[in-house]
Amino acid sequence: MANDCLFCKIIAGEIPSNKVYEDEYVLAFRDIAPQAPVHILVVPKEHICCANAVDESNSVYVAKCFEAIAKIAKAEGLDNGYRVINNCGADGGQTVMHLHFHIIGGVKLSEKVV
Ligand code: AMP
Repeated sequence: MANDCLFCKIIAGEIPSNKVYEDEYVLAFRDIAPQAPVHILVVPKEHICCANAVDESNSVYVAKCFEAIAKIAKAEGLDNGYRVINNCGADGGQTVMHLHFHIIGGVKLSEKVV
């Protein structure tokens, strides 16, 4: 756990969240400012600051995040598809420096960056 990390505090239960999924590696909860009908954050339980800090010592957490994403999408009924977004660093628009993946869905998404 990193000091002063919002998502570490949510994982530790020090700050409440609207949890939708949890296992040994991953916590997922609804975004506090949803950008779509379904907007869920999938967060590794180990503090990894960002995509740039993923390496062979911690990449299992990324794999577990994507295993969780598939389960959550099914549970949320996102059968028609959805978008997974990771913002990395200041230029990427990351505001919480704990690796996380946004699941965005529940509506036909229009704006695409790529
Ligand atoms: P990012 O900009 O990619 O770092 O995403 C951070 C996300 O965390 C934003 O979409 C915020 O709305 C969300 N967020 C911030 N605080 C909370 C919180 N306490 N509970 C749930 N989501 C949060």
